[in-house]
Amino acid sequence: MLTFGPIPSRRLGRSLGVNNIPPKICTYSCAYCQQGHSSKVQIERQFFYPPEEVQKAVQKQIYRATAAGETIDYISFVPDGEPALDINLGRAIDLLKPLNVPIAVITNASLLWKADVRAELARADWVSVKIDTVDEKIWRKIDHPHRGLSLPLIMEGILAYASKYQGTLCTETMLVQGLNDNDAELNKTARFIAQVKPAVSYISIPTRPPADQKIKPPDEKAVNTAYQIYSRYIDKVEYLIGHEGNSFTYTGNLEEDLLSITSVHPMRESAVKELLDKAGQEWIAVEQLIADGKLIELNFDGSKFYMRKLFDNYRR
Ligand code: SF4
Repeated sequence: MLTFGPIPSRRLGRSLGVNNIPPKICTYSCAYCQQGHSSKVQIERQFFYPPEEVQKAVQKQIYRATAAGETIDYISFVPDGEPALDINLGRAIDLLKPLNVPIAVITNASLLWKADVRAELARADWVSVKIDTVDEKIWRKIDHPHRGLSLPLIMEGILAYASKYQGTLCTETMLVQGLNDNDAELNKTARFIAQVKPAVSYISIPTRPPADQKIKPPDEKAVNTAYQIYSRYIDKVEYLIGHEGNSFTYTGNLEEDLLSITSVHPMRESAVKELLDKAGQEWIAVEQLIADGKLIELNFDGSKFYMRKLFDNYRR
């Protein structure tokens, strides 16, 4: 199937997905990949599907969705592999532009050292680049890159792309317990991401069974620490952890509001108190959520933070 959805996406609203790569051809074979190990790891761009066929499939899907009364906020290239391996990515984007729906690409950034890839990705309206680490050894352990790739070259490519790109650029860091979640690593990665100046820097953790069974997500304390460290360098940091909440909208339902906000970022004690005041409720409501195992209290730098419990369903 060349297309799927539209499906709800916290970053992209109602997103109509484009699968422009056969499963699972990638430049990486990430240890945390939820699609399993890559069937082929390559760095040569190649022809997969005629871009006209991609355009037709998208048009048909838009027609079906619109007839069913659904809205589409983005057409998103999110294959089970690396979308920039498609030698026709730029042409496909050009063919989709007249449909007047913004176009998004979620890439692992590993081919951004190539000028042709930078030029083609520049045509998308919204792009997310993966930056898991800036340490070559850790990168090899987490992302299992093709041996022809070089991390310093990729980082140069990311900066070159970011300096010219006119659309919305976001970054995504997947945290893996014991690999890229310690303070020193987080500081280094955050400093590099700050140079990219993303609209939002997303932090995620493996929430579904990973390719490598040894991979574990960091605990809530480490996730909170990552958020705090990133926030020292980067203007806007958010979690991307799988709870598709109605973030930042005050619905008047305290539990819903607290859990949806704290699934995007931890809340300071003072912010929680403000929310309680708005809802006309007392601190006991927070204590109840903690007792129910829905919310957890964490300390960082002498302040208290509140965060949604992440791991109710995850096998740890
Ligand atoms: S880059 Fe994405 S698709 Fe490729 S192996 Fe990593 S997680 Fe899977």
